[in-house]
Amino acid sequence: MIGAIIGDIAGSRFEWNNYKSKKIKLFHKRCRPTDDSIMSLAIAKAILESTGDFTDLSARAVSCMQELGRVYKNAGYGGNFYRWIFADDPQPYNSFGNGSAMRVGPCGYAAQNLEEAKELSAKVTKVTHNHPEGMKGAEATAAAIFLAREGRSREEIRNYILENYYHIDFTIDQIRPKYTFDVSCQGSVPVALEAFFESTDFEDAIKTAISVGGDSDTIGAITGSIAEAYYGVPEHVIRAAIEYLDGTQMEILYYFEERYPSKAIGEDGEVSGTVFDVLNGLCQISGS
Ligand SMILES: [Mg+2]
Repeated sequence: MIGAIIGDIAGSRFEWNNYKSKKIKLFHKRCRPTDDSIMSLAIAKAILESTGDFTDLSARAVSCMQELGRVYKNAGYGGNFYRWIFADDPQPYNSFGNGSAMRVGPCGYAAQNLEEAKELSAKVTKVTHNHPEGMKGAEATAAAIFLAREGRSREEIRNYILENYYHIDFTIDQIRPKYTFDVSCQGSVPVALEAFFESTDFEDAIKTAISVGGDSDTIGAITGSIAEAYYGVPEHVIRAAIEYLDGTQMEILYYFEERYPSKAIGEDGEVSGTVFDVLNGLCQISGS
């Protein structure tokens, strides 16, 4: 699930300062994890606490999102979601915002089949984003992650998305000049998917996602969550990203990656192990 966090961190400095080029550095001192990372970690925590039995995942998602949302209350939430975090009796509010897709990644990693990816997505989404477009944006993202984990090609994933979710008839180059801030699922999830479809590797996927502009950290997070499952994540990118995380965030990431591992890529471009192996190695160094 580290891919969403990396996309969020890399996009964070461009959200209010769009930069319409792929010639960017992913990491910079002005980068930080925002709501996309915090809520992805909240969903990861809810999944970990489920220990394989997802019957109560909706309730766990509510309590974990409220818990972390209250700890990290300045992470950049929208107004409705902010009120939901602090509500005594939080209710879904028919949102079709891209918050549903930015946080759903862990469902795609925890699922054991495509149907389960969709079920888990629905369970964590309907508690806030119960509008059909909110549900769809999350499900499309979770499905793409699952298909990528299964080793499907980009073409196969693209065809599945086009047949079941979105009619994507543009390229990033075509829309980049005029694309502006759009926090709806329907206005940003297809863009994030297309950035992945056009990408050549993990870093290229994130850079393509950010280069389109708009809600850069969220588009980066969605694209990153899929690109991680498809390509794996370069070790040097993992090391750079976790410099931005505090102990609470790191702990959730560590245990999620341990239980639901994804691939790490070594300097030679080949799979070198898992993201967890890299995290674990760094923890042992810092602990010794
Ligand atoms: Mg954000």
